[in-house]
Amino acid sequence: MSIQSFEEFLHTFIPKVSLKSLQCNKALWILETTGTQDAADLKASLDVELRLLLSDRKIYQKLQAWSKNPPEDIYLSRQLNVLLRMFAANMLPEKLLKKIAKKEAELSMIYATFRPKLEGKRVSENEIRQVLKGDKDSDRRKKAWEASKEIGKILAPHILELVSLRNEGAKALGYPHYFLMQLDLQEVDRDTLFSLLNTIATRSEKAYQNLLQKIQEKQMARFSVAKEELGPWSWEDPFCQEDPLDTSKLDKLVQNVDIVSVAKNSFGKMGFDVENILQRSDLYEREGKNQHAFCLHIDREGDVRTLNNIQPSIRWLETVLHELGHAVYELGFEKSLPWLLREPPHMIPTEGMALISGRQAYLSSFLQDFIPGEDFTVAEKSLQRRQLIFSRWVLVMTYFEEALYNTGPKDDLNTLWWQLVEKFQGIRGKGRERDFDWACKYHIALAPVYYYSYLLGELFASSLQQKLSTPFFSPQTGIFLQKNLFAPGNAYSWNLLMEKVLGKPLSPDAWIAQYAQDLV
Ligand SMILES: [Zn+2]
Repeated sequence: MSIQSFEEFLHTFIPKVSLKSLQCNKALWILETTGTQDAADLKASLDVELRLLLSDRKIYQKLQAWSKNPPEDIYLSRQLNVLLRMFAANMLPEKLLKKIAKKEAELSMIYATFRPKLEGKRVSENEIRQVLKGDKDSDRRKKAWEASKEIGKILAPHILELVSLRNEGAKALGYPHYFLMQLDLQEVDRDTLFSLLNTIATRSEKAYQNLLQKIQEKQMARFSVAKEELGPWSWEDPFCQEDPLDTSKLDKLVQNVDIVSVAKNSFGKMGFDVENILQRSDLYEREGKNQHAFCLHIDREGDVRTLNNIQPSIRWLETVLHELGHAVYELGFEKSLPWLLREPPHMIPTEGMALISGRQAYLSSFLQDFIPGEDFTVAEKSLQRRQLIFSRWVLVMTYFEEALYNTGPKDDLNTLWWQLVEKFQGIRGKGRERDFDWACKYHIALAPVYYYSYLLGELFASSLQQKLSTPFFSPQTGIFLQKNLFAPGNAYSWNLLMEKVLGKPLSPDAWIAQYAQDLV
C-alpha cells in the first residue's frame, strides 16, 4: 500500500477521532465539575463510541500492512506508530471489552460511594485523614487507619476478576500478561524500567533508613508510644506515602499568600501568559465537584483548563503550580503538528514539567520573593523527605502491580503486599496477612500500569533542573522548555525526546544527587 493511501486515510479518519475526543473531554469536564449522573452517563457512552472507532479490525489490519513498509516522512511514520498502539489496546473481542468496561464501572462506583465505619459512624476519606493528621491517641489512629482499609475486602474479588479479564485480553494479543502489554504499548522496556527502579532502591536505601529512624523518633514522642507500637497508622495518610513531619508549620508559611496571583506571576516570568487558562479553570471547592486536581486540554487547539480545590496550604500552592506546568506544556505544541501528535509522547515528560513546577513551592529561591523575612529551611527539608518517602511508595506499587498480573490465583497477594511495604517503606503490617490492604489503592484497580510514571517524572524533573543554567521561573528557561520539550509534541518517543532535551538518556543520577544524599 502506498503512502498516499495512508495520508488519505488520515484525512478522513482523524476528524472523526478528534471530534469524538472533543466530545468526551467536554463531557468529562462537566462530570468532574458537577458530579451529576447525567454527565456520568454521557461520558460513559461517548467513551464507548471513541473505543468503537479505535477497534475496527479492518482498519487495524490496514495499519499493520502500512507499518511493514512505513512512510519515510517522520510525522507520517510517527502517526502510524501512535495509531497502531491506540488500536492494539482495543483489539479484543467485543464481549471481553464490554465485560472489562462493566467491571471497571462497578469498581469505580464502589470507590466513589463506599464509606467505612469509625466508632459506629460512617466517615469520608477526609475525616479519616483528619484523624491521622491531628489525633494524638494511638488507638484512635489505629482504628481510623483500619477503617480506611475496610474497602479492601469488598474490592479484592472484583479486582482479581478484572485482572484475569485484562490478562485474557493481553494473551489474546500475544503478550504473557497485561502489565507487559501496557508497558510495551507505552514504549517502555520492562527490564530497563526495573533495573532503574532497583538502582533507585539501592542507592537511596541509606538515606531513607536514616530518615525513617528520625520519623519514628518523632512519632514515638508525639504519640507517647514505644517503637513496637508504631505502625502504618502513625503516619498522616493511609498509605504512608506523604511526609508526616512539619505539615502545620509549612501551611503557616503560606497562609497569607494569594496562590493564584503568585502562580500567574511566576509563569509570566517565563514568558507564559496563563490568564486565559485560569479564566477557563475551576479553582475552588464546591459541592459535587471532583476533590482532587487535574489539567485537561479540551480540543488540542488551545482550550486548556485546570481543576483545583485551592486552600491556603503549601500543598495547594504546589498543586496549582503543578497543574499549570502541565497546562503550559499543552499550549506549547508546535502549531503545525498534525492533531495526532499534539500531545506529550508519554506521561513522564509532562509529569516531569508539572513536578519541577510544583517543587518550586518548597524552595527558598521562590518563596522569598513574596514571603519576606522567613526561614524556608523547613520547606526545603520537607521537599527532600517527600521525594524519598514517595519514591519508596512507588517501588511498592510497581513491584506489586507486576506481581499482580504475573502470578497465579493461589499466590498470596496479601502477604506479598506487606513484604514489599516492609522491604521498601520499612513499615510492618503484622497481623494484616489476611486483609486485602493492596486492594484499597485506587490506582491498582482503575489506573493500572501508570504509577511508575510519577517516579520517572521525578527523575526527569531533577535531570532537567541539573540541565538548566538559569532560575526556573525565568525567560531563558521558558524559551528552552518551549523549544526543546513542548514544541515537538508526540513527534518522537518519550525516551528520544528526553535524550534530545537533556543531551543524554534519562538516568537516576541527578535525582539521587539531589534527594538521596544522607539527611543532615
Ligand atoms: Zn500531574
